[in-house]
Amino acid sequence: MKIHEFQTKELLRSFDIPVPDGVMATTPETALQAAGGLGSWPVVVKAQIHAGGRGKGGGIKLAADAAAVREAASQLLSMTLVTPQTGPQGRKVNKILVEAGVSIARELYLCLMVDRAQAAITILASQAGGMDIEEVAATTPEKIIRVAVNPLLGLQPFHCRQVVFGLGLEADTGKACTALLNKLYTMFVACDCELLEINPLAITTSGAMVALDAKAEFDDNALFRHPHILVYRDSDEESPLEAEAARFGLNYINLSGNIGNMVNGAGLAMATMDIIKQAGAEPANFLDVGGGASAEMVENGLRIILGDPKVRGVLINIFGGILRCDILAEGVVQAARKIGITVPVVVRMEGTNVDEGRRILADSGLNLITAADLHDAAVKVAAMVQGEQQ
Ligand code: GDP
Ligand code: MN
Repeated sequence: MKIHEFQTKELLRSFDIPVPDGVMATTPETALQAAGGLGSWPVVVKAQIHAGGRGKGGGIKLAADAAAVREAASQLLSMTLVTPQTGPQGRKVNKILVEAGVSIARELYLCLMVDRAQAAITILASQAGGMDIEEVAATTPEKIIRVAVNPLLGLQPFHCRQVVFGLGLEADTGKACTALLNKLYTMFVACDCELLEINPLAITTSGAMVALDAKAEFDDNALFRHPHILVYRDSDEESPLEAEAARFGLNYINLSGNIGNMVNGAGLAMATMDIIKQAGAEPANFLDVGGGASAEMVENGLRIILGDPKVRGVLINIFGGILRCDILAEGVVQAARKIGITVPVVVRMEGTNVDEGRRILADSGLNLITAADLHDAAVKVAAMVQGEQQ
């Protein structure tokens, strides 16, 4: 799960990590009030969306006085912000953060992330922090240092020294960086983060170290341990179909193709996506109803798939083990009747009571196409979608 910058900063504050004073606002009036309460100028008005690159898209505005705050706030709050990370459709801005302006001497980059390949919590750090870090990573990767921390060992002084020397920090700033790293690491583990990124980590003109921007992502499977983080969920920022799927306990990921894909079990989902691609088509999603799916879950799954306007054909590929094929077929038929299917649906099933299941599909009078096997199913659905496009 991702959360907003202002929420990440609340968490950072609770771990005693220095962040600028700031208040979240949803209207220009409350933004103005918030700015007044900060007691210093300039202030920074920042669009709160679950995507980075806001500075490049015009989502970060410096305001020198009250009039400028009002103008920045009303501009941002009526804006669909397009950044290098939002895609061309952009994101509607519903919340802004009004923050005390900081006078920046240097912008560093500091990030902790779960590194699966190393089985470690890896620290990434760079002197070249700020808005161009993606370009730095692409063109001069040697400017980014990586320090892998064995999670069983935890963060040790030598890890911190590697980061401090790598960043070229001296004396007091080096000490501040070590203290900061320890707090960030503590928070990362305590909150089950997958990513905790501070960019920029500013060194101010008075020599202090402040987290000017902050981004956190959490392991969904650990969120049950963190009710205080779970309340940060902002469903406005999540794809509506993914949010609906999550409510029903379905594993659903939206992809870019046009063949909807309902499968029971993640391994079967992978294999099904492979075979759709092999047949020359592209999956529109990954939807796993789970090994113990019920007819009701099949119905919810089908509704979510058909709710995606990209979908031009559906492939249902189910192995009837715990869920028997006749129950599945009933579920599909009922769902298709209720929702109304407007695109071809190819069903491939195998397993317990498969003959009965096929008979139910055939007798339904609906446009449900039965496939003999997985290959046949993929070829059929691909041909239908491609035939339609010609
Ligand atoms: P991002 O573009 O989404 O990563 O948004 P950031 O919060 O990182 O802001 C982008 C840039 O705005 C930073 O790299 C800073 O250069 C600048 N910025 C943000 N806050 C302040 C501030 O308080 N003072 C000044 N002078 N610049 C700021
Ligand atoms: Mn940033």
